[in-house]
Amino acid sequence: MMEDFKNQALRFGTDIRFELIEKVDFSGPVHKVWSETGHEMHAHTVIIATGASAKWLGLPSEQKLMNKGVSACAVCDGFFFRKQEVAIVGAGDTAAEEATYLAKLCSHVHMLVRKGEMRASKIMQERVKNTPNLTVHYNTETLEILGEEGVTGARIKNNVTGEETTLNVTGFFVAIGHKPNTDLFTPWLDMDEAGYIKTVPGRTFTNIKGVFASGDAQDHIYRQAVTAAGTGCMAALDAERYLSEHAII
Ligand SMILES: Cc1cc2nc3c(=O)[nH]c(=O)nc-3n(C[C@H](O)[C@H](O)[C@H](O)COP(=O)(O)OP(=O)(O)OC[C@H]3O[C@@H](n4cnc5c(N)ncnc54)[C@H](O)[C@@H]3O)c2cc1C
Repeated sequence: MMEDFKNQALRFGTDIRFELIEKVDFSGPVHKVWSETGHEMHAHTVIIATGASAKWLGLPSEQKLMNKGVSACAVCDGFFFRKQEVAIVGAGDTAAEEATYLAKLCSHVHMLVRKGEMRASKIMQERVKNTPNLTVHYNTETLEILGEEGVTGARIKNNVTGEETTLNVTGFFVAIGHKPNTDLFTPWLDMDEAGYIKTVPGRTFTNIKGVFASGDAQDHIYRQAVTAAGTGCMAALDAERYLSEHAII
């Protein structure tokens, strides 16, 4: 499918370059970007679609079992663990929401909370407490995710008692937050405290004329492929309009 998308873009004259952008300068009417190989590119419009990266625990076993039972998206992958026992790490609103979502699909959900309390809002905590097939393990950290070709369990430790136990889970979800890939644009663009680019509500305009943002880099709520594609299309239309309004095309 991605090849089809690429070929369609090429058919419409897109110049595709697979390079990492390391520096930008949005100070003038013509924007400048520099790639890792030293290429300097100039453009009247720039669409940012650099996405957001999930935060991980940093365990070697987590890396090894990524996409083999370890996931950072319960909404996306929860269905594959229907009627199975799973664990989810996190203590905020997103973790609480994802844990209750998983509880609708899975036989049992273990929510692993590092501290003695959750960060989630009262209402979300209530929802977690009122979910019968959801157990919250406070003061708990993950030592290792077990398995070779798929998850077969998780070794956890209670930080207060020092007790180590193994959960017989086949799915392991990490919901400890996302980091938008936007550091590069910090000096130029307005962002929220987490680094998501601020856009005009319902549009893709940033605070800099001719610079548009789409996808997960500006969306901390939905973060789905279809919403990213939708805002990508909006950004393309906004950029095209900007170019015609400024008599550039
Ligand atoms: C495990 C998992 C499963 C998912 N499953 C689903 C699902 O089933 N359905 C669904 O709708 N969504 C799903 N999602 C969410 C979906 O993948 C994202 O919402 C979507 O990919 C966001 O698109 P994007 O274009 O904004 O960013 P991305 O797809 O993250 O693309 C950003 C691109 O920008 C590149 N980039 C970053 N910085 C630079 C730079 N400085 N220079 C050049 N390039 C750069 C990155 O390398 C990357 O290729 C899933 C996510 C995860 C993590």
